[in-house]
Order: sequence, then structure tokens, then C-alpha cells
Amino acid sequence: MNRRKPIFCPPDTHIHTSLCKHATGQPMDYVEAARGLALTELSFADHAPAPDGYDPLCRMSLEEFPLYRDQVETARHSGEPPVILFGIEADYYEGCESFLAEWLPNQDFDVVLGSVHYIGNWGFDNSANVHVWKNVDVTSVWRTYFELLSRLVTSRLYDVVTHLDLPKKFGYRPRDNVVREMALPLLDLIAKTGMAIEINTGGLRKPVREIYPSAMLLALAREREIPICFGSDAHSPAEVAFHFDRALDLATEVGYSSMVRFRRRQRESTPLFVNM
Ligand code: ZN
Ligand code: FE
Ligand code: FE
Ligand code: ZN
Repeated sequence: MNRRKPIFCPPDTHIHTSLCKHATGQPMDYVEAARGLALTELSFADHAPAPDGYDPLCRMSLEEFPLYRDQVETARHSGEPPVILFGIEADYYEGCESFLAEWLPNQDFDVVLGSVHYIGNWGFDNSANVHVWKNVDVTSVWRTYFELLSRLVTSRLYDVVTHLDLPKKFGYRPRDNVVREMALPLLDLIAKTGMAIEINTGGLRKPVREIYPSAMLLALAREREIPICFGSDAHSPAEVAFHFDRALDLATEVGYSSMVRFRRRQRESTPLFVNM
């Protein structure tokens, strides 16, 4: 009989640092936490600077970016394991393209995560703004969100779509069949452009108590052979590889048997299981 054993823990591709102003710990603190878990690989993905003034309270400034680079570099030189990658979480919003198209390719990132956190001026996933959800049409918010994500994908500036169904964070969401109908064109587009998506366990720490994306959306991604990677969205060292056991279960439930790893923005497929 062919028994399958999960690799101990997939690389964690989504780790923040105190430079984003709402996380605690410096890169070295996260690396030490990862060592405690025997994690083999991780990638920092703090929020990218936005010199046009977009959402300044949740990110490093452009002037602080060299500090981020140095801190990650120092952590990297502390030895392996884990292998340490230099990544970034770059928000997509209207008008972001000109800066990002110029800046992202010049930073030697290993991986660029793309995310959407704003609908117009509303930071819809910020708990300080949660009351707004009571006064909006939930379905049309989700529709706008998916439209923004398709522009993110079309821009081809990013490697991975992170927290694909982020608007569910506080529990406001349309019925499954409605979400499905909205997400299908987006998933087709992701498949066509060859991007990956992330299984993000951060949602388990939020009111929705669910991994991003939902099992339904992940199954649709699997049907389209969209590659996956894993991210904890850690905002404190204790959250490194947060509930990755559940993320692996979800991935296998919908039929995934491989994941991707990144180096210098090139990706490589690797099995989720070793044959015993
Ligand atoms: Zn954050
Ligand atoms: Fe994010
Ligand atoms: Fe994040
Ligand atoms: Zn995130």
C-alpha cells in the first residue's frame, strides 16, 4: 500500500514585521519562532511602501524600506534552517501601478503577494471600520472587490493573490452560489495568467474563523490547476505557520497534491507529500 505522509510543514510565505505599525517583532524574532517549529522556509511579506500616501498607517515608508531589507538580510545570515526569502505584500488600488511597475522589479524580491484592502476610501477589513458593513450592500461590495482583484491579476505585477475572499473577515458575505458566480471569471483569469493563490490561515484568527479562501473557492481553483502556497499572515512571532495542519487538510480535501515555492520570483512545484 502506498502510504502518504505530509511534509512536516509547508513554507510560510506571508510574515509581517513591526515596520507595518500593526505587527510586533522584527524579522529575527520570527526566524527564531520558525526555528522552534522546525519550519524549513519562510518569506517575509510586509506591507509595501506607497509614496503616493495610500494607507500610511499600515505600512513602512519608502525611507524605511532599506531597514526592512537589512533586517531580513541580517536574519538570513543567521544561518539555516529556515531558508529565508525576501518578499512583500503590495496592495492593489487604483493608481498604484505606475509606482509598483517601476519599483517592484528593482528590489530583488523572491515573491510579491498582491492584495486588496480598500473599496474606494473604505478599508473594509480594518476592524476600526467594521460598522460600515452594516450600511452597505454586501453583494455589491463583494462584486467590486472581485473587480479590483481582476485588475490586480491583469496588471501582472504580482506572483500570488493573497487572502482571496478577504471581505468575509467579519462574517458579511453573500450566499455561496452568488460568491461562486462572481469568483468564476476571476479564477479563470488567475489560471490564464499563471498566478498562484495563497491558503491564508489568518482568517482563523478573525471573526469569520475560516481560512482564506473557502473550501468552495479552493476547489474551484483546484479544478483550474491554480498553484497554491501557504501563508500565516503572522503579525506576531507566535503566529508563524499558524494552524498549517488545517491548511494542509483543506488543500488535500479539495485534491491538491503539490504546492509552489518561490526564488527570485520564479516558482517551482514541490509535492505536499512524500511516499513512504
Ligand atoms: Zn498587516
Ligand atoms: Fe493583506
Ligand atoms: Fe498580510
Ligand atoms: Zn494580509
